[in-house]
Amino acid sequence: MLLDRRIGSHTKTSGGLAKAALPYVDAAGSETLQVYVSNSRGWALPPGDPKQDTLFRDGIGERGLPAYIHASLLVNLGSPTELTVERSVATLAHSLERGRAIGASAVVYHAGSAVDAEHEAKALHQLREALLPLLDDAAARGLPKLLVEPSAGGGRSLASKVQDLGPYLAAVERHPWLGVCFDTCHAWAAGHDLATPGGMTATLDALIATVGPDRLLLIHANDSKDECGSTRDRHETIGQGRIGTAAFAELMTHPATAGIPVIVETPSVEHEGHAADIALLKSLR
Ligand SMILES: [Zn+2]
Repeated sequence: MLLDRRIGSHTKTSGGLAKAALPYVDAAGSETLQVYVSNSRGWALPPGDPKQDTLFRDGIGERGLPAYIHASLLVNLGSPTELTVERSVATLAHSLERGRAIGASAVVYHAGSAVDAEHEAKALHQLREALLPLLDDAAARGLPKLLVEPSAGGGRSLASKVQDLGPYLAAVERHPWLGVCFDTCHAWAAGHDLATPGGMTATLDALIATVGPDRLLLIHANDSKDECGSTRDRHETIGQGRIGTAAFAELMTHPATAGIPVIVETPSVEHEGHAADIALLKSLR
């Protein structure tokens, strides 16, 4: 595994997966990328265009870019609403199949929330019932891995603090096909003080102490518009938010992030903004 941290961004695909994403990553200086394969705020499961899939797979292969899929933001395996859980499972299954078709390394999804206090006791059992068959199937068929991303907190999250990943992983018997994606903005919103000197280091230490050495497989590097502990998930350009550049320097040099791809999901919707975030992070590694 490469010791260096590959850096890239969430990448637009409107107009065609390969046609949109490949010029974008070239212009942004990306060494990795993340895409949606369905509407980020919808349940529709589009089949994909086989020609674009092949061009994308070949394009990332030629460039040596590991690619990641972010599942729809509506996915909630902790929901008290049965239909939401069913749709969430179908969405993750679809993302895993699309992941194989486009040559993605893994599919990221948000940890989910129980929503109601009454549902909280049942939510981890429900998670187990929903997730274990998906993980077993993906492992057996060699599909991409699933990566759980702790959320910004609030709404009775199943995991927002890094320590919450202990019970979360235990609920699925620490299944080998479930990895972890650490999002800096979410961790900050959930109450980890990353901005204080040593704060990012301590949070990463606590993460590894909870999940073990080989479970962290992706990082989302985002600054935040809000205060620590706000439970608000409003991303900001790296170095221009409340977390600040020094914390990202700790992130990019911590031994736990060696060889782990880093994706920015900063507010820029064009490649110029992402290019600046990517260049800044490259200068810190
Ligand atoms: Zn994220």
